[in-house]
Amino acid sequence: MRKIRYNLLERGASVRDVIDSVVARGPHDVPVHILNLDDVVEKHRNWHHQLSRVEPFYAVKCNDDPAILRTLISLGVGFDCASKQEIEKILKLGASPTKIIFAHTAKSMDSIDYAKSCSIDLMTFDGEFELDKIKQLHADALLVLRIRYDSCNAQISLGKKFGCDPDQEAPQLLKYAKTLGLEVVGVSFHVGSGSEDHECFQGAIKCARRLFDFAHTIGYHFHLLDIGGGFPGDHNKPIDSYAKTINLALQRFFPLKLNVRIIAEPGRYYVASAVTLITNVQSKRIVRNSQGDITDIMYYLNDGLFGSFDWLNPRQHPPEIIPGNHQIVRSQTGRFSSTLWGPTCDSTDLICSGMMLEELRIGDFLVFDNMGAYGITLATNFNGFAKPKVLTYISRAAWEKLKLDKHGKSLKRSAPVVASNNWNSAD
Ligand code: PLP
Repeated sequence: MRKIRYNLLERGASVRDVIDSVVARGPHDVPVHILNLDDVVEKHRNWHHQLSRVEPFYAVKCNDDPAILRTLISLGVGFDCASKQEIEKILKLGASPTKIIFAHTAKSMDSIDYAKSCSIDLMTFDGEFELDKIKQLHADALLVLRIRYDSCNAQISLGKKFGCDPDQEAPQLLKYAKTLGLEVVGVSFHVGSGSEDHECFQGAIKCARRLFDFAHTIGYHFHLLDIGGGFPGDHNKPIDSYAKTINLALQRFFPLKLNVRIIAEPGRYYVASAVTLITNVQSKRIVRNSQGDITDIMYYLNDGLFGSFDWLNPRQHPPEIIPGNHQIVRSQTGRFSSTLWGPTCDSTDLICSGMMLEELRIGDFLVFDNMGAYGITLATNFNGFAKPKVLTYISRAAWEKLKLDKHGKSLKRSAPVVASNNWNSAD
């Protein structure tokens, strides 16, 4: 595995300085992700403050950047892995097998085998065929029954694909697991990713408690509740209301005296706000009506839906615009309805349309914040376009505290934050 390169922010230097420095270098073909690990550390502190009973198991699928994973390992966070490859990656980085839940309910035979060989015992299921496979390949596994409980307002609803019906199917499945002699230890759910509905956690936790009670009647003694992901992670979206609902529901349905371990699988929460994307305008076209009035300006950026942009996360807020090199095209004043396209030849590669923006020029920079979730892990090289380049930053104080690595490059406020020959510094 390659060494992780951390750029150290000395006292007084900020991510803003980094952005200014990247922009000062002029337009570049490859979009840039500024990854701020201090943001991840702060998110973890906040999680503990707000949800002290709930152990986070970060969902690796959300952003598997090694620097993020190393930081989370140092912070003592656990991991939700969905595949053999994710397990392999996190183990190589130093995670303990006891801090991993294999949270995919439809696992390949090979991956179950692999999990067993690495002593990863905790895994989810939602159907009888999965139970048969686990009985055959990892009979000592500690199983978590995934039930369906959907938020009514999620960006990505998962219930159609995963999770059994808690009333009809779950009791039957538990009875079947019992006949196979398998060890079921608890219940999990995922209300949906990007859920705006914090109250659904109350219903889901209540529903899980009913299954704990049922399991008891057939001889199981559940001791684990996994409340999944679905927490917001943008700068302007706090988790306070989620924490309040969850804490109250836990107090009511899983009081401390029951001695139930509570875990969660947050993805977005930990990383969305840690990444800022810097992209630039590579081409543009002006669209006019028959009277010659401008009806739209189309911009072609060097990043799009096959790169950093989440397919299901429409851009509602205008990006920050930083003027670039303006020798190329004339400028007009005023705002125009604008369309932002990604660079590929696919016409679905549309970031947003109808956004009112000042006229941009070739080489102008567009800076998007909250780009850390489900961007880089979904990015492709379609049409040969490079995936975004990640530049990783951490304050010296946090770096020393976490004892991340000896491979740090010091950056002071007065120095250029990204050195001129440093585009490959993260390699
Ligand atoms: N756990 C599972 C099983 C998932 O499928 C997902 C996302 O799809 C997550 C956790 C992370 O969800 P989020 O990013 O909404 O927190």
